[in-house]
Amino acid sequence: MCFLLFVWRIFYKGGALNFAKSLRKVIEKHGGKVLLKHKVDEILVENGEVRGVRVGEKVFKSRIIVANINAKTTFLELVGEDKLSREFIEYIKSLKMSPSCFMVFLGVDMDLSTYPTIIQNLDEKYGIIINSNADPTLAPEGKASLTILTLANYRDFPNKGTKEYLEKKKAFVNKLIKKAERIIPGLSKHIIVIDAATPKTFEEYTFMPEGAIYAFDQSIDTKRPYFKTPIKDLYLASASTFPGGGIEAVVISGIICANDICGWKIPK
Ligand SMILES: Cc1cc2nc3c(=O)[nH]c(=O)nc-3n(C[C@H](O)[C@H](O)[C@H](O)COP(=O)(O)OP(=O)(O)OC[C@H]3O[C@@H](n4cnc5c(N)ncnc54)[C@H](O)[C@@H]3O)c2cc1C
Repeated sequence: MCFLLFVWRIFYKGGALNFAKSLRKVIEKHGGKVLLKHKVDEILVENGEVRGVRVGEKVFKSRIIVANINAKTTFLELVGEDKLSREFIEYIKSLKMSPSCFMVFLGVDMDLSTYPTIIQNLDEKYGIIINSNADPTLAPEGKASLTILTLANYRDFPNKGTKEYLEKKKAFVNKLIKKAERIIPGLSKHIIVIDAATPKTFEEYTFMPEGAIYAFDQSIDTKRPYFKTPIKDLYLASASTFPGGGIEAVVISGIICANDICGWKIPK
């Protein structure tokens, strides 16, 4: 696993959820509908053309489907191997997932405003992001919210809820706080809120295989699937396709996909 820690430099005011809320507003303004708690079980395909999606017993018919979830899940689970060529299935199966990460989220009663927002320790392979320095609305005055993170391997974590899992999680938390304390002395004594996430947590919350943070491995060897798929009118717009992982890159993939579907007509 590559241990280069890549800390993003994009911050959304008020947190990433605000970005999702902004997108929802745009969709609704243009007559669209956002359905929460609708996990797609199947992408319906007939004669090589997409027909819609199935959520439990409900069927949503559509001439075009844009899949925003990981391409492995899209093709191997939702479309189904029987609808695709053996060669394409082998290619999708061969794609390597990116690493995952371990994150500790802290709320502290310390003023950290004189620290840089992002601190990366490349030798020890971890980073600290002082979120409230990028966006002061993320902590009350005189307090701070921060994240300590390191890359982590999905397979190193036992099943969630087991004793081994909880012990491993606790050990990671303690190790990262100890490291961060060398940069922020007294940190552990000022914690008022603490939470942590393992690769298994990311898998559970995002449905991303292996809790991968950038979908597929961000390497020049990774040949990401093209946004136009072998199934007619089924498109990809996500970290699985060009240009790759990270919110900005995913937005670019969405712009490419939307423009292609609309025939690249430049609005007047
Ligand atoms: C811990 C962590 C921190 C990160 N920090 C940053 C950062 O600071 N800046 C940055 O630019 N990038 C960051 N990234 C990377 C970035 O979040 C991803 O690259 C990006 O969100 C991927 O966008 P996406 O639309 O492809 O997938 P997602 O954002 O994962 O969206 C896919 C959506 O599909 C839903 N879904 C999955 N399966 C189904 C199904 N069957 N039916 C219906 N819905 C389904 C999921 O619930 C999810 O809402 C981070 C990633 C992680 C995990």
